[in-house]
Amino acid sequence: MAPKILLVDDRPENIYTLRRVLQKLDVAAEIEEATSAIAGLELTLRHDFCVAIVDVQMPEMDGYEMVSLLRGNESTARLPVIFVSAIYSDEYNHRKGYEAGAVDFLSKPLVPEILLSKVRVFIDLYQQRQELELANQKLHQNHQILERRTRLLEIARQVSHQITAILNLEALLAEIINSIQAQYEYAFIGVWLWQAEQEALTLEAATGSFVLPDTIVPKAVQGPLVEVVESRLPVYLTDPTAVSETQLPSHPHTAVVLLFPLIIGQDDLVGVLDVRQRHQQPFDDESYVNLESLSDQLAIAIRNAQLYDRVLRFNEELEQNVQERTQQLDKAVERLALLDQSKSDFIEVVAHELRTPLSLVKGYSEMLQTEPGIQTNELYMLQVKGIVSGAARMLEIVNTMLDMIKIDAQTLQISPEMMSIASLFRILRSELAPTLNERQQILSITELEQLPHIEADEGALFKLFYQLLINAVKYTPDGREIRVRGRFHGRVGKDDLTEQAVEIAIEDTGIGIDSAYTELIFDKFYQTGHVSLHSTGKTKFKGGGPGLGLALARGIVKAHGGHIWVESDGHDEINYPGSTFFVLLPLRLSRVISF
Ligand code: ADP
Repeated sequence: MAPKILLVDDRPENIYTLRRVLQKLDVAAEIEEATSAIAGLELTLRHDFCVAIVDVQMPEMDGYEMVSLLRGNESTARLPVIFVSAIYSDEYNHRKGYEAGAVDFLSKPLVPEILLSKVRVFIDLYQQRQELELANQKLHQNHQILERRTRLLEIARQVSHQITAILNLEALLAEIINSIQAQYEYAFIGVWLWQAEQEALTLEAATGSFVLPDTIVPKAVQGPLVEVVESRLPVYLTDPTAVSETQLPSHPHTAVVLLFPLIIGQDDLVGVLDVRQRHQQPFDDESYVNLESLSDQLAIAIRNAQLYDRVLRFNEELEQNVQERTQQLDKAVERLALLDQSKSDFIEVVAHELRTPLSLVKGYSEMLQTEPGIQTNELYMLQVKGIVSGAARMLEIVNTMLDMIKIDAQTLQISPEMMSIASLFRILRSELAPTLNERQQILSITELEQLPHIEADEGALFKLFYQLLINAVKYTPDGREIRVRGRFHGRVGKDDLTEQAVEIAIEDTGIGIDSAYTELIFDKFYQTGHVSLHSTGKTKFKGGGPGLGLALARGIVKAHGGHIWVESDGHDEINYPGSTFFVLLPLRLSRVISF
């Protein structure tokens, strides 16, 4: 814009002279003129002058008065004024002029060079000021742009912060739409998700009621959405009407469409963010940058929610499977219990039926033993003895079976009385003497004498320890040792209960037991090794048995409120690590020990 100069003089010839001089300026300047101070003031309100050249002496209002009025007005306060005067060009008047606000003085007659050089200075100043103002304006604009960018980025950060915390896919998509809508006020926002198996995009969420059920765009239809899927790059549409409805469903009142790929890393496509504007109004750089940075966050948040959803569904399936399996297992357990019951019933019937004839065989064969005719014949005597011991063994097995049935049905009755463990073992020793003799085994019993009497069913304890000793004999090779020792516990049990009990340990030097079986052997009918591999005979090395001994032993211990367990360094038929069976029995039956 050309700089403007104001000339104020009541005499037109003076103005004419000034004009002529000013034409010689090397810059094109616009000159406005006024023949009175009032007219000059009016012009200053309408134009932005770089300098005013004012005659001092004028009728009605002189130059001094005019300049002081100029100084009083904010918009003209800084307008440089050069006074031109002929009569008043003495020292006094110059001072008066400066006081009124003049910046310079020129005396008549005018020296053109001086006038030109002075005006030139003010034009330069004016131009510099204008340039400065322009630079200032630009700076201000840039500042505003920066501020807006920061604000939008902050919004993007807030949106992504809000959304990354949501794991439910449906809620997440709704939140994405709402957040973007609230911050950027687009006409339409939609989120398309990529369905890899179907090779299609489905519109899962959108502003307003736009989401039509089953809005699906298969890859095969091509168009802008598919272009984003294939190129993994944004697509900008300024004329969406050129695209068919199947390629990109239209939205009323929107004219500009921006489609952003939602990808993780370089290639992992999650979907497409669909943003539309109302008018033919292009998205500015900021919106573009923000949507780009936001779409990265959206992709990750959506993928997280999808994974979480999958885990949830997997968990549900798993839970259902577990439930089904548990039901099947429950049924199987029920069936097994029924089978077990019918097996027990069968054994009970058989055992009862066998007991009477067996007692007869045993009784009559024992009677036969005493017949003189038999006693005198060595061969007959041997045969009858065989019948007697066979019948006794069979009766013993049948009785064990019946005891087992009672333990199963929890009907094993015990008749407790005060008894001595030491004397019980004396009886057991004499009972087993022939067997030990036969197997040349040594039974050493120690530390039982000092044990206190305990309250227990002597008959039941006889069966219990007899069983453990017979097993020790059976699983220990000929000529080796079996040790029995006792210990008194003054205080056992949990929670500081002062419980008293005796502990009996039966330690053999036999084949030992694998740690895998130390619990199982106490189940009824459980035997390690195959039955067919057992040698026959109750007391023979590794002799067979019905697999009831330890189950019966455990039943008896339990009925006394005690505890039974075995310790062994494993099964080894070369080094014979041995096994030790422990039985812990409470001193008084009322004080049942808990384990
Ligand atoms: P069985 O009639 O077979 O002896 P038990 O219930 O008494 O039945 O014993 C179960 C299984 O425990 C036996 O078959 C045997 O394998 C193992 N067992 C019991 N006592 C001993 C022991 N003292 N040493 C090694 N193995 C033993």
